[in-house]
Amino acid sequence: MDPSASAVSFPAPPSAPYVGRLAPSPTGLLHLGHARTFALAAARARAAGGRLLLRIDDLDTARCRPEFADAALVDLAWLGLAWEEPVVVQSARLPSYRAALGRLRAAGLVYPCDRSRKDLAGALAAPHEAPGDDEPLYPAAWRPPFDTPLPPLDGAGLARNWRFRVPDGETVRFTDGRLGPLVAVCGRDFGDFLVWRKDGLPSYQLACAVDDAELGVTEVVRGEDLVRSTFRQLLLLAALLPPGAPPPDYHHAPLLNDENGFRLAKRHDALALRTLRDTGVDPGKFHDSFSPLC
Ligand code: GLU
Repeated sequence: MDPSASAVSFPAPPSAPYVGRLAPSPTGLLHLGHARTFALAAARARAAGGRLLLRIDDLDTARCRPEFADAALVDLAWLGLAWEEPVVVQSARLPSYRAALGRLRAAGLVYPCDRSRKDLAGALAAPHEAPGDDEPLYPAAWRPPFDTPLPPLDGAGLARNWRFRVPDGETVRFTDGRLGPLVAVCGRDFGDFLVWRKDGLPSYQLACAVDDAELGVTEVVRGEDLVRSTFRQLLLLAALLPPGAPPPDYHHAPLLNDENGFRLAKRHDALALRTLRDTGVDPGKFHDSFSPLC
């Protein structure tokens, strides 16, 4: 990823009291990889004398289950982590996300998109697919022209996908607490991304940016699989934060691999915190084995 002349930039952050957050998705049982990231997030909040929030990312209605949210609270407490009440639940914050979509629409930064996943998969035979990305590079040729009137956000409007129009060729930069200075070029490293889904829910990118802004999060600690999401969220934050307000700092933690080199996932039942607890593992041991604050 290389720099170019124009850039999305933010003012130097004033020193605000530290607010961190843990943000599990209740799509399965938490495992050792989550434990490491969340223990790091808690340690950084503690070291800064700050607050730590807990947010349940339960917007993926097909995969999230309430019993996994309950299990996450129990497992995180078993791990010895403490957070501020009340727990923030994304599915209870839909009005905030709708309001944010309305602001993006009013600023002309989003447009409705009726292309299907199949359309997109077909277009990806093209050579410019972003490698290893979670969301494929949306072909710029599919965008509506800038002056196309946008439909209202009524029932029908909210039952469509909406995408954020990225400023092609602009760079987005941030200095990661662990990885150092990072930069991405809009339209090359990622394209127009979903902010709203036709099932009437915000995308992860929009919900996360709105929450981090509204809850006053000053540092996001999460796995490094989300670095590319950070660039997208910084674009959203630039549009949604009050003028002059800085976005959070970011600290992306290394991911844990299994013995075969595969990233730990919720399918690794043997390393689920629940299983470790039931086999009598001492959670204090994890804290000792995780290197402090990095
Ligand atoms: N809920 C997301 C996940 O489990 C993390 C989101 C975030 O930290 O921003 O991958």
